[in-house]
Amino acid sequence: MGQTRHCKQKTAMSWPCVGEAGRTGDWRTLRPVVDPEKCVAARKGKIVCMQCWMFCPDNVISRTAPPEIDMEYCKGCGVCVQVCPSQAIEMRPEHAEDVAASTKEEASCDR
Ligand code: SF4
Ligand code: SF4
Repeated sequence: MGQTRHCKQKTAMSWPCVGEAGRTGDWRTLRPVVDPEKCVAARKGKIVCMQCWMFCPDNVISRTAPPEIDMEYCKGCGVCVQVCPSQAIEMRPEHAEDVAASTKEEASCDR
């Protein structure tokens, strides 16, 4: 089997890298926020769990305790929230108008 042009790999494959899909800009509506009180890695002060790091499709979560999210590239997809076993990540509205709208919506649901 021949080699690819600029690489010593023998088969075609892609490598994850930060911001594979480019900078997010201002279109994201929700942003993930890690609660260090609930995060296993933050509580233990060790690189454990790391499900968020492993499954983030944009590879923008650091492998650190606590994990940090590069908001310049995060797409707000919410995968990290779904895979976190401790419910330590929550999506919060990105823009002030979204906050106002969600507060209004919550108020109308309470009636
Ligand atoms: S919201 Fe999506 S892109 Fe952003 S950190 Fe979580 S999994 Fe990664
Ligand atoms: S998946 Fe949740 S508990 Fe695990 S390291 Fe990430 S934020 Fe912490």
